[in-house]
Amino acid sequence: MQAKRSCCSCKTVKPITDFGNRCKKRGLISSTCRACNSANAKAWREKNKEEIKRKKAANYEGNKEAIKANIAAYREANKERIAAMRRARYEVKYAHRLGNKNGKVPCKTKICPACGIDKLRKEYFKKLTSISYLCKVCTNLHAVDRNRKVRNRTPPWCDKAEIAKIYRNRPEGYHVDHIVPVLGIIDGRPVSGLHVPWNLQYLSATDNLSKQNRITESDL
Ligand SMILES: [Zn+2]
Ligand SMILES: [Zn+2]
Repeated sequence: MQAKRSCCSCKTVKPITDFGNRCKKRGLISSTCRACNSANAKAWREKNKEEIKRKKAANYEGNKEAIKANIAAYREANKERIAAMRRARYEVKYAHRLGNKNGKVPCKTKICPACGIDKLRKEYFKKLTSISYLCKVCTNLHAVDRNRKVRNRTPPWCDKAEIAKIYRNRPEGYHVDHIVPVLGIIDGRPVSGLHVPWNLQYLSATDNLSKQNRITESDL
């Protein structure tokens, strides 16, 4: 049978392993349980907060050199252990820098879906949180293609000076956006808006990139 003892603080009977040592040499066991001990100590520290702070500061002032030497000696003696701890902490905090969740190192290259070539990340445009879908070369080709399509969607009767004015007056940090995309999708159906003044609006760069030519009827 396991030895038990009553705690004189919380008055409950607990197994002897729940009590700390009062004097190890003489085999004396604490009269209060570990839980009460730590709770009491915490309460005492909270009550004497200012006093403890003052004493600590006074002690440091009086023994500055010795304390500094102690710390330096400890660091010197435990160099490897401290380095290992730091490394472990770094690996937890910056896991994303060392590799992804599966421990794999992130790819340095990406296959461009347009030209099919495995290219380095620097050969793609940087986007807000990732890199462009197509490589720089293909993105530019796509832009040329897109400009041609936009030109095709500009009716000959519309006021081109008016459109130029909208582009000229574009505020800093904003894109000129087609409300109905020139080539886009509304509710799953392909649409083709006109390149006319009343189909143009200013949109912040972030909003425009998140729109991605996919809108719903309610957005109009
Ligand atoms: Zn207790
Ligand atoms: Zn490409």
